[in-house]
Amino acid sequence: MEVACPVAPADDWVARTAGEVRAEGERRHPGEPPTCASGISPSGPVHLGNLRELMVPHLVADEVRKQGAPCRHILSWDDYDRLRRVPAGFPPEFAEHIGRPLTAVPDPCGRHPNWAEHFKEPLRESLAKLGVLVTEISQTQMYTSGAYAAPVVTAMRRRADIRAVLARYQTKRNGDADDDDPRAARDYYPFKPYCAVCGRDDTTVTAFDDRTTEITYTCGCGARVGPVPVAEVAGKLVWKVDWPMRWAYERVTFEPAGVDHSSPGSSFTVGGELVAEIFGGEMPLHFGYSFVGTTGSAKMSGSAGGAPTPADALEIFEAPLVRWLYARRRPEQSITLAFNAEVGRVYDEWDKLTRQVADGTADPASAVVYSRAAGTAEGPLPVTPRPLPFRTLASVADITAGDETQILRILRDLTAPAPVGTLDEVRPRLNCAEAWVAGYVAAADRTQVREEPDKERLAALTGDERRALEILTERMGTYWSLDGLTKLLYGVPKLLRGLPLDAPPTEELKAAQRAWFILLYQLLIGNHTGPRLPTLLMAVGQDRTRRLLATG
Ligand SMILES: [Zn+2]
Ligand SMILES: [Zn+2]
Repeated sequence: MEVACPVAPADDWVARTAGEVRAEGERRHPGEPPTCASGISPSGPVHLGNLRELMVPHLVADEVRKQGAPCRHILSWDDYDRLRRVPAGFPPEFAEHIGRPLTAVPDPCGRHPNWAEHFKEPLRESLAKLGVLVTEISQTQMYTSGAYAAPVVTAMRRRADIRAVLARYQTKRNGDADDDDPRAARDYYPFKPYCAVCGRDDTTVTAFDDRTTEITYTCGCGARVGPVPVAEVAGKLVWKVDWPMRWAYERVTFEPAGVDHSSPGSSFTVGGELVAEIFGGEMPLHFGYSFVGTTGSAKMSGSAGGAPTPADALEIFEAPLVRWLYARRRPEQSITLAFNAEVGRVYDEWDKLTRQVADGTADPASAVVYSRAAGTAEGPLPVTPRPLPFRTLASVADITAGDETQILRILRDLTAPAPVGTLDEVRPRLNCAEAWVAGYVAAADRTQVREEPDKERLAALTGDERRALEILTERMGTYWSLDGLTKLLYGVPKLLRGLPLDAPPTEELKAAQRAWFILLYQLLIGNHTGPRLPTLLMAVGQDRTRRLLATG
């Protein structure tokens, strides 16, 4: 059953691609669900750029499912790739394992079966939170179980044809130091063994018998192996041959790739020829997607270092927001995820869109993107029952330094006349705000409410400043709400001038308000700026505010 889409398919890449995937899947393999594919190498932390490799096919596969049709989304773990280098932050001793399959390298923490699993687990957890349903395929498992035995033999027998295709593109790509450069070896073999003695791929195939399928190789460690049947030899096809082999094997209908993979002469172009010529398959529908960058993502604790991961993003953004940050951009547009003060603005935008969708005023394109962010074909993602503004929660988390009793007291004040009952009503957003303050707000920018009044500053008050503080402390009890205090705080300089509270602002008034707010920040938190003043006052409470602002 087709679901009518309010946005023209030509303008909506998800709907358009989903339609193409269904039609192409049906043409290629009638009666079978189409397959969308992602490939990730668990060679180090899987970062937010890699998440796009998953989100693009996910959005398409999920769109197909929302239309009521089945769709497979496979995640091919390239865990049989060699360890190329030891990522930053890991012990240099692991260099010993360079050249071995990622599943043959020991786990760096001791809680996982191997190196690859160490990096798979956090991504798996993030995907579950994000509602991204995938069928995982381990390339180690596929190669070592013999699943690819037939295509490996095919590739070895047709090595001259493969070499010819690679060489044709090689001439167009001068200076490409790819390790499967067909000119690098006198005799070209697309299969790279992992040495039976040292386990590394520092190997050179010296012979292959097309009839018996026996292979012979040498290794940099001195080993000489063979002839033995290639099916009994650990190893894998080189990347540019491996990828099209899998397109054919898994019947991939759609697989996007980073823009670096989809340029002319890249592994995608070469693969497109090889999949048809050697493996009897068809090139998947595909397009390139752009980069994902981050700002302000260096954690204050400076723990692991390196690019932030989906788990880092999910610590400070609710899962639907992370989906939204990916879903709202077209594939060719780059994405920037902010971890700095912009986080509050992103939440505000999301909350605004949520309200617009609820009251039917959102524009159709934004509403469609919202629905893809808020839920999947499986249903809606969990939300925060009382989504208070992120900035408010961050200020409260900051001012209270995480004291839950204090947090609840302040939030109850802030939400009168329908106060929150328990902190669970404001979670997980409160946890995100707490994690953000702890992880991404510099110590110098944190709020520290004064223990004792600033006697020096209070002694130097001008007559106007003294009267302003008296007006505030006398009247604030009757204005004790966010809206009320906002009105009163902006109004004090007006009252001082004999104007009513709702007098329109002038340049002179605005300057007076700025100076007045600086005075309050100084007396309350010893700083020139800080959280919004109404929030700050309510967090500090009336008694303590009166004590800190007392003019003597
Ligand atoms: Zn581990
Ligand atoms: Zn060896």
